[in-house]
Amino acid sequence: MAISLNNLVERDIAIDLGTDTTLLYVAGRGIRLREPTIVAVDREDGHLVKVGEDARKMLGRTPANIAAVHPIAAGVISDYDMTAAMLRELIRRVSSFSLFKPRVLVCVPGNITGVEERAILDAVIEGGGRKVYLVQSAVATAVGAGLDVNRPNGHMIVDIGSGTTECAVVSVNGVVESESIKVAGAAFDEAIVKYIRRKHNLLIGNPTAEALKKSLGCVKERPEVVYEEIKGRCLMTGLPRNVTINSDEMVEALSEPAETILETIHMVLERTQPELVADISENGIVLSGGGSLLYGMDRLIAERTGIPAHVVDDALSCTAYGAGRMLSRLDGMRDGMQNYARSRLLRKGEK
Ligand code: ADP
Ligand code: MG
Repeated sequence: MAISLNNLVERDIAIDLGTDTTLLYVAGRGIRLREPTIVAVDREDGHLVKVGEDARKMLGRTPANIAAVHPIAAGVISDYDMTAAMLRELIRRVSSFSLFKPRVLVCVPGNITGVEERAILDAVIEGGGRKVYLVQSAVATAVGAGLDVNRPNGHMIVDIGSGTTECAVVSVNGVVESESIKVAGAAFDEAIVKYIRRKHNLLIGNPTAEALKKSLGCVKERPEVVYEEIKGRCLMTGLPRNVTINSDEMVEALSEPAETILETIHMVLERTQPELVADISENGIVLSGGGSLLYGMDRLIAERTGIPAHVVDDALSCTAYGAGRMLSRLDGMRDGMQNYARSRLLRKGEK
């Protein structure tokens, strides 16, 4: 009896609130939920119609009274009420077995402002969390990748998500240096749409571009050229037309966003202390996030930096796994604080 009650009480939750996908990890149970970060609401009374996959299906197909929105943009809350409503629904789904409100650990970008941090804390409390703990995403990703982040040893984490690419140097449980840019998976899709319009006079939608990116996309030539036929609207006639695209064209289409990511990595390396750079060149660059799955990304980064680069085992879930593992440390963390490095910054008066 005592044991089953105990089971009902303590189920901490870790959340990776991505621009594209939100993952919930429940302590002792693993990743229990993975949903698109999309909310459908009634425009008139603002009430929640659908969350996640059900809301995604409504994108572009909603009647006038329903709006499907992405409440997270570039890793931070763009629509506060919707984020809180979404979190409430998602937390409810994974904690229906519990009588008590969970403690919640949330991954946040390294460059988050005090105001954005406050918004996340409040949204989670409003969404049903008892206490909220913030952790820098890059630290969670490093833990998920199995790195020992407690030691003074520099690791570079490059997380290419949907809305942002975050390049961070992690050492002693904190982010030492970081840069976040709004060039990531969604920018790759945009680049493909633009290329096909320019080169083939064909208009395709972002979902088609995303599918093409996953099947044919590459930032280095493939050993064998791959072809795929796509359907779009001809810009000359306005009618449907099919075009065959090859993988070498993808290298051209994606070169601009890929270069921007490379420049950011360079910039962060330039700003990093030489001792840490030496550690990184020894340890290699760790790639994570869906965008790192793009064919050739690891090789491109390795070639251009001269530092070995490899993609983590499960690029889409690594951050959530890491955050989940960090749940065991919650008792030693202060709620509302990200980690020791961050609390030091806060003590210095930086918000
Ligand atoms: P976020 O953390 O922002 O939610 P994710 O890390 O889940 O983002 O990555 C989502 C992005 O990764 C999307 O832009 C998606 O198109 C892209 N992506 C997922 N799988 C692949 C793949 N195999 N190749 C290229 N891009 C991919
Ligand atoms: Mg992410």
